Amino acid sequence: MEKLWDFNEIKKIMAESGFTFSKALGQNFLVNPSVCPKMAELCGADENTGVIEVGPGIGVLTNELCKVAKKVVAVELDSRLPEILKKTLADHDNVTIVSGDVMELDLHKLIAEEFPGMEVVVCANLPYYITSPVIMKLLEEKLPIKALTVMVQKEAADRLCAQMGTRACGAVTAAVRYFSEPRLLFKVSAGSFMPAPKVDSAVIRMDVYKKPKLDVNDEKLYFRVVRGAFSQRRKTVLNSVSSALGIDKATLTQAFSEAGVNPALRPEAMSLENFAALSNAIGGRI
Ligand code: SAM
Repeated sequence: MEKLWDFNEIKKIMAESGFTFSKALGQNFLVNPSVCPKMAELCGADENTGVIEVGPGIGVLTNELCKVAKKVVAVELDSRLPEILKKTLADHDNVTIVSGDVMELDLHKLIAEEFPGMEVVVCANLPYYITSPVIMKLLEEKLPIKALTVMVQKEAADRLCAQMGTRACGAVTAAVRYFSEPRLLFKVSAGSFMPAPKVDSAVIRMDVYKKPKLDVNDEKLYFRVVRGAFSQRRKTVLNSVSSALGIDKATLTQAFSEAGVNPALRPEAMSLENFAALSNAIGGRI
């Protein structure tokens, strides 16, 4: 079905099915006709590609993805929506709706079963309440995915795409940049959604590295060090990591020295290489 972005079309579908928006599930549906075709075009999907969509809603983005991809698997938590999607996506025979919580799904299994031999990308207008957990699950599980293209709140997009060594960066920046190269594709105004959220959004794309570029001995420790460093942004990394990881300052100072990192740095002044060298040096001491 076309025009799923049309305000009146959505109202009609809602009236026919008795559907009402769930704020708890982050249901802000797109009503701007230009956004979904652009996302589908820029997400890296083509006639040989499989696409995973998180949260299809009534299918406005799914409809565009079905036109460009070989196959689309859309994961939806709201059990009222699959029935509606059957009607709105009836024109397409290359779509499967999976009912469930994306955070609980075994995505390795899903990819192996649904997309054998295919290159896979993710494309989604993410529910805002779990933006970072979904992105981190998709990256940390090391899924065979080429790229993630997601709509997130503008502020989250700025953080996710920030350069290290700038004020805008945070723990999530260092985590995302460990696995991928993120970039901002385009901004989307709050008025492009129904109901309209309070803030603007942006679409970002993360091109996933086949293998992380950093030389990290213990990934879990790297992420603990990064989170610890950013847990108190105004403090030095030495102080924050010492209290977050429970390591005494003398031992930690030796680790800084071995890593060649200045212990007086604040977290936003650290590079990814600094974090990698520091976590490797800490690893040899705890
Ligand atoms: N794709 C539609 C659009 O762009 O108009 C809807 C996007 S809406 C921002 C987010 C969607 O994610 C909703 O359909 C919501 O029910 C679904 N959702 C929320 N939490 C989810 C979860 N944990 N797993 C899968 N889907 C979820």
